[in-house]
Amino acid sequence: MHHDESRDLYDRALSVIPGGVNSTVRAIDPYPFFVQRGDGAHVVDADGNRYLDFVNAYGPLLYGHDPPEQVQSAIQSYSAEGPMYGAPTEIEVELAEFLARHVPSVEMTRFVNSGTEATVSAVRLARGYTGRDKIVVMRGGYHGAQETTLVEGEAGHVHPSSAGIPAEFAQHTIPVSFNDPEEITHVFERHGDDIAAVLTEPVLGNTATILPVDGYLETLRELCDDHGALLVFDEVMTGFRVGGLQCAQGKFGVTPDVTTFAKIVGGGFPVGAIGGKAEIMEQFTPSGEVFQAGTFNGHPVAMAAGLEYLTYAAEHDVYEHVNRLGERLRSGLTDILAEKEPTYTVVGTDSMFKVVFSRRGPDDLTDQCDSGCRQRADCPRFDHCPKNGADVQAAETNRYERVFWHEMKDEGVFLTPNQFESCFISYAHTEADIDRTLEAYDAVL
Ligand code: PMP
Repeated sequence: MHHDESRDLYDRALSVIPGGVNSTVRAIDPYPFFVQRGDGAHVVDADGNRYLDFVNAYGPLLYGHDPPEQVQSAIQSYSAEGPMYGAPTEIEVELAEFLARHVPSVEMTRFVNSGTEATVSAVRLARGYTGRDKIVVMRGGYHGAQETTLVEGEAGHVHPSSAGIPAEFAQHTIPVSFNDPEEITHVFERHGDDIAAVLTEPVLGNTATILPVDGYLETLRELCDDHGALLVFDEVMTGFRVGGLQCAQGKFGVTPDVTTFAKIVGGGFPVGAIGGKAEIMEQFTPSGEVFQAGTFNGHPVAMAAGLEYLTYAAEHDVYEHVNRLGERLRSGLTDILAEKEPTYTVVGTDSMFKVVFSRRGPDDLTDQCDSGCRQRADCPRFDHCPKNGADVQAAETNRYERVFWHEMKDEGVFLTPNQFESCFISYAHTEADIDRTLEAYDAVL
């Protein structure tokens, strides 16, 4: 496989774009391939190489690079007529109505432009609504490039995980381990009156794909209710991917007070959204006191693309298709990996999947889970599945990034380039694509 064009483009990019990329995760050693175009379930790079795409732009592309015709025509007409006005339009009302109709926690929505903006505003909303400062987050969770959640360290020694953030900011953030009810109960016992919100992804999609164990989300709900804190689900990644149109909160049956969205909701265009109960959402300006604004908020092209994306999914077998392929891939991977050493764990749900290069617990267990890890306590391999961010941090991240990813790419399969980000199946994928992908995993591993 030749990559001369990509290498030349990367050289040019390095002179004018810091690190040669516009989002850190896109940097790949020694250089990323540059994409020329998408084609259904594939991307084609600048050198003409084709890859089956399981990155799907890190989640937004539910239809791969082949969106339904009605999406295309909506994008074209809204961009030709506008593209935007700085005044309200009907399409943003329609998308907000759609979310209110389908997502259990949502009565009202404020649209912004990215997942990061959505979580920044949700944190401000929770603080403004409760009059409290502390935010509980999960270690290994990700909520975008924002000050409150870019933290690391243990209780009492929490500090920013990025340069450029004042150390004091981290004092208001309390990281805990996902799936550990005792730890967060203890945190509420100590700080309950100061906690504005628990902010968590319902499925940790930025640390492989870690599902909540039975009862964990319910515990979060109870603790928040008992202590007057808000439960905020960050469904930027899981929204309209896990649990279909009801999102992960519908799948797990736990309703947060506030939900953040992005990715799929924009139909391939930049979007973020904060949704929740009217009483809370009305605290945003201009109806309330929590400042929120944006030149591009509710951009008509993004609203139209998102609405058509979701409407199509409501009327066709989209989730049935991608989830079925997800099961096929996870169970095929589980079969392949049962034979391989060192140990691996297949994780995922719905149309998300990942192979983690490690396994918890003793190595002698040969029982297989039925189809990848769904973190069910009755699964014979329950103990082996990663339960929190630390379990994935302990994986062979180097081998994934330096060897495995490149060899999969040479087999024509484009996976997320590090151990942490989930991979995504789109409606453009076919059973034959999944089987070819399984062959590639088998060959490479
Ligand atoms: N929250 C979650 C759960 C995410 O997965 C991401 C992005 N991967 C973000 C927030 C940030 O979204 P954005 O990159 O659109 O700012």
